[in-house]
Amino acid sequence: IARNGHEPEFIQAVQEVAETVIPYIVQHDIYHGKNILLRMVEPERLISFRVAWVDDDGEIHVNRGYRIQMNSAIGPYKGGLRFHPTVNASVLKFLAFEQVFKNSLTTLPMGGGKGGSDFDPKGKSDDEIMRFCHSFMTELCRHIGPNTDVPAGDIGVGAREIGFLFGMYKKIRNEFTGVLTGKGLSWGGSLIRPEATGYGTVYFADSMLKTKGESFEGKNVVISGSGNVAQYAAEKVLQLGGKVLTLSDSGGFIHDKDGIDEEKLAYVMDLKNNKRGRISEYADKYPSAEFHKGETPWKVACDIALPCATQNELHGDDAEALIKNGCIAVAEGANMPSTPEAIHAFHEAKILFAPGKASNAGGVATSGLEMSQNSLRISWTREEVDDRLKGIMSGIHDACIQYGKDDDGYCNYVKGANIAGFVKVADAMLAQGVI
Ligand code: NDP
Repeated sequence: IARNGHEPEFIQAVQEVAETVIPYIVQHDIYHGKNILLRMVEPERLISFRVAWVDDDGEIHVNRGYRIQMNSAIGPYKGGLRFHPTVNASVLKFLAFEQVFKNSLTTLPMGGGKGGSDFDPKGKSDDEIMRFCHSFMTELCRHIGPNTDVPAGDIGVGAREIGFLFGMYKKIRNEFTGVLTGKGLSWGGSLIRPEATGYGTVYFADSMLKTKGESFEGKNVVISGSGNVAQYAAEKVLQLGGKVLTLSDSGGFIHDKDGIDEEKLAYVMDLKNNKRGRISEYADKYPSAEFHKGETPWKVACDIALPCATQNELHGDDAEALIKNGCIAVAEGANMPSTPEAIHAFHEAKILFAPGKASNAGGVATSGLEMSQNSLRISWTREEVDDRLKGIMSGIHDACIQYGKDDDGYCNYVKGANIAGFVKVADAMLAQGVI
């Protein structure tokens, strides 16, 4: 805290891990006294750089770019790039720290990293996005590579941005390698990668529900966000027989009492991915829906909640409202969407709660599968990738149960994910010595 006290998001993420991992370290001699957590919270490398670019009117802008190379004990740094005005070193360090544990949980050989910029893609033309991405990559390309650091997408970085970034990397380095994941299918991408985080979150939630003899069939589901993760979480919920009641963006949320079916979801995907519109437009098109400006959807009664937008979007009073309304399970599609107060309330009420580092790991896991296919220069079928994704999510669920089950039979998935993720990275760091 003395060294990082000015970084609230990072402190929040570290405290959550420390609360569960320190008691484990104290009980296990091989980790005790080695300052292993102190070493894990310090990034191996933090790169910050100027990104200058020219808008369509010829005006010059300057943004700040970052790459946090957090931990490479078990593989090359791996983690997304976020383009959003709220990006700063604290947000990226929290995301990179979480990524280390998440990547470890996937069982694939990937270290943890994260990067991005305070650039706001909203309202920018395709040409402006391209010029920004090209400028960003002219610096980032010095620090990444298929065996060093493999970035991917995150908020504000989707297929379009990955294309522009990859194009500039290829031009400067004169090589065609799997240096980014989330690529287009015809140039090294993997089937199921766009769907993976949302699908994986629902697979994980389904595994949790099964421990109580429950399923998604006939359940009311509240989802926040309307980007990549939210869209595919909604698609999988529908496939498993659930009813999706809400979606949101930074302007507010829509509540469709008739449910957001496949046809309505296709409208949302077109609205968000092609037209780059606002979720409020959904309520103009479908009279069964109401738009709630500036609000989050947690007061809507539901059985299952999937926060899929951003960090700290679900507060203590939201958690209390969910519990009061009979919610039985919460699985995080976003990174750290629930505040510590909300998590505490879920645990007190003993409802099923999955932290993002476990439940949203399907995205990076499938990125790992994209890296494998790139190295082998082959492409697996949709079924093959989906089967592997299901297997990985089920493995993460098992690991959480192994380390997170309390004496009374309740599974604390936060504790389970933190300890399971920690053990693999800590063992590798100990084997590699003090470096
Ligand atoms: P997108 O950019 O595709 O979508 C983000 C969604 O969240 C949009 O609906 C956006 O609304 C909303 N949002 C963003 N910031 C805010 C805010 N401050 N307040 C309210 N709403 C906000 O991103 P993704 O779907 O890829 O990512 C969503 C979350 O999932 C993030 O936490 C990300 O780190 C996490 N994640 C993503 C993975 C992936 O594979 N994509 C993998 C693992 C985790 P608006 O359009 O108005 O900004």
